[in-house]
Amino acid sequence: MRIIDAMRRIIGLIIALLIVVLPALGESDSPTLLYMGQASLRIVTVEGKVIYIDPYAGDDYDLPADLILVTHGHFDHCAVDKVQDRNEDCMVIAHGEAVVDGVHQTFYLGYVTIVAVEAGHNQWHDVSDCAGYVLMFSNGKSVYVTGDTSTTEQMAEMADMHIDYAFWCTDGVFNMGNDEAVRCAELVQAKHSIPYHNDTSNSGMMFDPDAAEAFDAPNKLILLPGNELSIE
Ligand SMILES: [Zn+2]
Repeated sequence: MRIIDAMRRIIGLIIALLIVVLPALGESDSPTLLYMGQASLRIVTVEGKVIYIDPYAGDDYDLPADLILVTHGHFDHCAVDKVQDRNEDCMVIAHGEAVVDGVHQTFYLGYVTIVAVEAGHNQWHDVSDCAGYVLMFSNGKSVYVTGDTSTTEQMAEMADMHIDYAFWCTDGVFNMGNDEAVRCAELVQAKHSIPYHNDTSNSGMMFDPDAAEAFDAPNKLILLPGNELSIE
C-alpha cells in the first residue's frame, strides 16, 4: 500500500509540474508583439531581445532596447529619443542603413533577420528614402511592416517570402487607402493582414477602428493600440 501511495504522490507531483511548466514553455516559443498606435511596435523575441519599430506612439518604451528599426525620417516614425533605455550593443537601423545606393540590405543578427524591402512610391515618400522591413524570427515566423508606402514593384514577388503577419499603412492621405492596400495584401498573401497607420484625425488615439473595420483584406486581423500578439 505504501509503495502505491508513494507512486500516486509522485505521479501527482509530475502532473502538477507539467501543469506549471508546460504553459511557461509555450509562452517562450514565440515572440510577443505590442502594437502602440500609428506605426509603433515593440517586439520581445524568444531570446529576450527587445526590438522597437518606428518609435513615436504609446508609452511602453521602458524595456531596454537591443534594436531600433526606423522606416523613414518623418516625425511619426523616428522618435528614437523615446527609447532612452538601450542595451550596450543596441543597433539602430534606419532607412539610411537599409537602402544603400538603391540596394535594399539584409541584416543577420542571430535572434532575428531583417530584410529591407521597397517602400514609398508616392508623392510624400521617395523609394530611396524609405524602407519596409520583413523580420524573420528564430521560431520560423515572420512580420512585415510596410512603413509608409503605396504599391511597390517588389510586392508582386513577396508572396514567395511566406510572410505570417503583415502590417499595412492605410490612411489614404499620406499613403494608400484601404482599397489599394487590400490589393497589395492580395499580392503579398501574408497569413494575417493587419491595418495600421490609418488615422489622420489627430485624435490622440493614433488608430482609427472604423477604417480598420473597412479594410477588407484576406485574413484580416485587427490590433488596437495596447493589444499584444503572439507571433506563432
Ligand atoms: Zn507616417
